[in-house]
Amino acid sequence: MPESDFEQFEASELFCPRCKKSVPVRKRLLLVLPNGDKYDYLCAYCATSVGTKTISRRPQPQLIVTH
Ligand SMILES: [Zn+2]
Repeated sequence: MPESDFEQFEASELFCPRCKKSVPVRKRLLLVLPNGDKYDYLCAYCATSVGTKTISRRPQPQLIVTH
């Protein structure tokens, strides 16, 4: 319950313009951004990119590095 704000909706099927139907997708990490990770969704059949999504991360506790 306290974690519900961070619950992520995961799309399991997206429309592929090449297959012309809803297809299962594979998630691939595209970019790591300061505010989250950007994922690319690829068609499981033809590997066409069918969408991207940036998943924000919870703020991480800062690590204090001493030199
Ligand atoms: Zn496809």
